[in-house]
Amino acid sequence: MQHADQKKIGFAIVGLGKFATEQMMPAFKETKHARLVALVSGSPDKAARLARAYGIEPKNIYNYQNFDTIRDNPAVEVVYVVLPPALHAEYTERAARAGKHVLSEKPMAPTVADCQRMIEACKKAGKKLMIAYRAQYEPFNLDAIARIRRGELGKLLQITADHGRIVDPVDDPADTWRVVQKMAGGGSLMDIGIYSLNAARYLTGEEPTEVTAQEMTDKSDPRFQEVEDRIHFTLRFPGGTLATCTSAYSIQQVKRFRAFGSQAWLDLDPATDYDRHHLVIGDKEGQREPQLKEGNQFAAELDHMAECVLKNKTPKTPGEEGLRDIRLVHAIYEAARTGKKVKV
Ligand code: NDP
Repeated sequence: MQHADQKKIGFAIVGLGKFATEQMMPAFKETKHARLVALVSGSPDKAARLARAYGIEPKNIYNYQNFDTIRDNPAVEVVYVVLPPALHAEYTERAARAGKHVLSEKPMAPTVADCQRMIEACKKAGKKLMIAYRAQYEPFNLDAIARIRRGELGKLLQITADHGRIVDPVDDPADTWRVVQKMAGGGSLMDIGIYSLNAARYLTGEEPTEVTAQEMTDKSDPRFQEVEDRIHFTLRFPGGTLATCTSAYSIQQVKRFRAFGSQAWLDLDPATDYDRHHLVIGDKEGQREPQLKEGNQFAAELDHMAECVLKNKTPKTPGEEGLRDIRLVHAIYEAARTGKKVKV
């Protein structure tokens, strides 16, 4: 066990919030190449309790003030930033300066300039930067992409993608920063609509050339004083696919997409949930539900980052992938604001 662990890449998690503690930390139990060795938190009691639960040495607990001393800890090779988006750039830069590879949560950062700073910092330090687009490591999504690439749907003509949830800072402390523009960088589009956007890009395998958008936000709702609620957008792809995407913070949970080809359609609903993915394919013969095995997408994502470090490979979802989405997010905001098509 110890020998196997020594070949694993050591990760430090920065920000011990809901997603880090409920999804990502438990996932380390299922990784082959990654292990959790350090914690960075502004909450010492929580960090101490989690360190005990995960067998992390007390000397490997950091706070935001002494974080830079992580450079002296050779056990940490990757810093995984799970902070609110406005803090991703600062901690990526500090981690890179400390000589660590970086895995950053999505959305990469609020602005294009922040994303560029993150890419530049890691490049300068000779370190890898990966954005945690977990759906791109998830078996049902990978299967959908493979079917489209094999031409099983015929020519890919249309995509619809919907992501929504109820945001409620009163009920869920993890939603507090989500309605604060300077922390979240935007509203539902930055947080969950980005899954619709990213899916349209990975399903087509292309970059859109043009976007249109409409926003509908009830400004009398105290949740939406700073950030948008509902935003619908279309993406035009060079190969002829049109994608119609929605994003909302005021509807019950939806995380789905459907790809329509000239010969068949493929529906994944949910598509980007943590589990219980459901795939249906329809064509002129009727509908079928191919049986796929659920996999731990969180562990797969962590293992991918670790393997990139072990084998000196570029991550499948590097900083540039996050930057592309953030550029498009801002093009969508511009299209919604002006009511005009925006070329990208
Ligand atoms: P939380 O609010 O639950 O966690 C954020 C943590 O960051 C806090 O618990 C805190 O940890 C730390 N923190 C430091 N400074 C601040 C600050 N000023 N305000 C708030 N928190 C701060 O949010 P989530 O866990 O939901 O989201 C964290 C990140 O993960 C975001 O980037 C989000 O987009 C992403 N995410 C990704 C998901 C995915 O499926 N890939 C799903 C959910 C979220 P501490 O007390 O340890 O200092």
